[in-house]
Amino acid sequence: MRRQLKELAQWLNADGQMLENSIVTGVSIDTRTIAPGDLFIPFRGEQVNGHRFVRQAFEKGAAASLWLKDEPDAPQDLPLIFVDDAEKALQQIAKSYRYLLDCKIIGVTGSNGKTSTKDLIAGVLSPHFKVKKTEGNFNNELGLPLTLLSLEEDTEVAVLEMGMSGFGEISFLSEMAEPHFAVITNIGEAHMQDLGSREGIAKAKFEIIDGLQDGGILFYDGDEPLLKPFVESANGLFSVSFGHQNGLDLSITDLYASDEGSRFTISGKVNGTFTIPVYGSHQVKNALAAILIANELGMTADQIRESLKNCRLTDMRMQPVLADNGALYINDAYNAAPTSMSAALNFLKETALRSEKWVVLGDMLELGDDERYYHESIADQLGTLSLNGILLYGPRMKWLFEKLQQSGQPNVYWSETDIEPIVNVLSKDTNENSIVLLKGSRGVELERVLDGMLAK
Ligand code: ATP
Ligand code: MG
Repeated sequence: MRRQLKELAQWLNADGQMLENSIVTGVSIDTRTIAPGDLFIPFRGEQVNGHRFVRQAFEKGAAASLWLKDEPDAPQDLPLIFVDDAEKALQQIAKSYRYLLDCKIIGVTGSNGKTSTKDLIAGVLSPHFKVKKTEGNFNNELGLPLTLLSLEEDTEVAVLEMGMSGFGEISFLSEMAEPHFAVITNIGEAHMQDLGSREGIAKAKFEIIDGLQDGGILFYDGDEPLLKPFVESANGLFSVSFGHQNGLDLSITDLYASDEGSRFTISGKVNGTFTIPVYGSHQVKNALAAILIANELGMTADQIRESLKNCRLTDMRMQPVLADNGALYINDAYNAAPTSMSAALNFLKETALRSEKWVVLGDMLELGDDERYYHESIADQLGTLSLNGILLYGPRMKWLFEKLQQSGQPNVYWSETDIEPIVNVLSKDTNENSIVLLKGSRGVELERVLDGMLAK
């Protein structure tokens, strides 16, 4: 960005000092990563008062800073804008800046698969458009405005992840970004504690249409029955469904795993066979959103095929990793909740990539009162998998362990806190005929299993 400081003060409808002649080229809330020309926004938390860092921000080249009106001792020798609330000011600046941009904005929400879908959309579009996407998981009320402010005046497409933990949050983010296209990847169980039910989760995700531009399009998980009533009752909404079922606007008709990744055939709004360098039918489904958007933006099926084949997803999401004993690991250790657990296990069930199948499963966190039920429920699906070994890790996995023992499931091992015994079993008993799924919540850090097992 390149805006006059005076203009920013107008956007905020705020007074300031020394506003003349300063140009702002970015916005930062952290002096550790601030860039010359940035506007610094000091946040005042319980532990830290960001105003203490304002001088440091200027030493690092900040062009100006905000200052809370009720914060004493404002320095008189620096360009400052006085505001009531740092977070609201950040959001207001982002919203005003967004109106100046002439790029296509895509908002992505859903219980699982936001980051993957965002990466797939950005990946497929990148060879043909100047694309920016949310970095990492910067998907909340601070991350989204900061992402909007990082867009450049020649950015053609922005792919923005929108996360939430309660009602009203997606609506707020969508109204800030005003997307041309919105995507709902799926409805799962995350945040059940706050939203009460899966219907509640669907309602909260559907808020993404609140800020959708006139003539904008919603792309949504057509396999999820809970979304249909919302789609049907939204007046004048253009919507496109995608998924595994027949008869959607875009359906997967055939799918198999190859050494290159997932190869799949689709029919509907776009037709043909495509490959993505990642495993899992849920990732293929995420790719449908990317294909639909690329198609909407004018890319041909051949162009889409070529760039999908080469696009990279973020690590630890159904990522193939070859260990030095030849075993093929599917590293899905980024996170776990019942829906994504089931999706990953389903992949393992269907794959013919290796003959001996193993799972290493870690605790699923943040599931609320029903956590025991969700852990135990995995037993049924595991029973259908003909696994060579089931290695469980963490205190909550004891529930699943006991359930599996009751049902007489062989080759089950559980470790409450020590990862070493699990690594030892894998080193001893897996080989080039083995495929091993790693899946657990982020806090469990199951990727530690791979330390020392990787081919150099
Ligand atoms: P977060 O809420 O942490 O930001 P996210 O929504 O961005 O998560 P990803 O990081 O893309 O989701 O993926 C998280 C997990 O969900 C991974 O294990 C992935 O394999 C799985 N997953 C991805 N897409 C789907 C989908 N469409 N349905 C079910 N599970 C999915
Ligand atoms: Mg994410």
